[in-house]
Amino acid sequence: MKRTLLFLLLTVSLATARDNSILGCTQNLKGIATGLEMYASDHSGRYPASLQELVPKYLQSIPACPAARRDTYSASWRVAGGEGFYMCCAGNNHADFGLKANEPTCSARHYLGPASMLPRLHHLEDEKQGSKPVARCLQNLKNLATALEMYAADHGGRYPETLKQLQQAQYLRDMPLCLDKDAYSYQVKTRPDWYLLHCHGRNHVKDGSPANFPSYDSEKGLHRE
Ligand SMILES: [Zn+2]
Ligand SMILES: [Zn+2]
Repeated sequence: MKRTLLFLLLTVSLATARDNSILGCTQNLKGIATGLEMYASDHSGRYPASLQELVPKYLQSIPACPAARRDTYSASWRVAGGEGFYMCCAGNNHADFGLKANEPTCSARHYLGPASMLPRLHHLEDEKQGSKPVARCLQNLKNLATALEMYAADHGGRYPETLKQLQQAQYLRDMPLCLDKDAYSYQVKTRPDWYLLHCHGRNHVKDGSPANFPSYDSEKGLHRE
């Protein structure tokens, strides 16, 4: 009996340590990526030759991967033509989360990879923050709306015909997912220019929302009831 309890406690704390290390590592990559974007906007879109150039102006220091307990990112850093940049957690540090060597990754095109890890990662993040999937969905709608407005500002007030165009024209890195699915539906009209975005289906019915909610209307903004 006691042995079982000890085993359970041990399993729980190991799971937590594993979850914290992948969360910490992806958080590190996101932090470095933010520093990189700030650097690039100060240097006419150019990325630095080495991550050390971010310190101390754009980043206090290059963080350590919680699993490897050292900076695993600097050695992997590459400035690449089409991709813009690439970095990863170098080494085999997250096999316990089902990742291969040199994962997770982060590039200008795919913010965090591999894509197959994202649903589990999002689930862990939501659990840790105690937030419901609808909170992430609302944030996704806001990000899509921001990308649509940036697109329109550059295209004489016209919104794109499809959300895919946001990606093609690089206003958006990855198409956001709700509950692991590409759930966002987009309707658009011209004269007057208008769009409606919604999370399609009954994804948040369990949390008390009707079907096809939340939604974002370019005139009225966010609806979440
Ligand atoms: Zn790592
Ligand atoms: Zn949703």
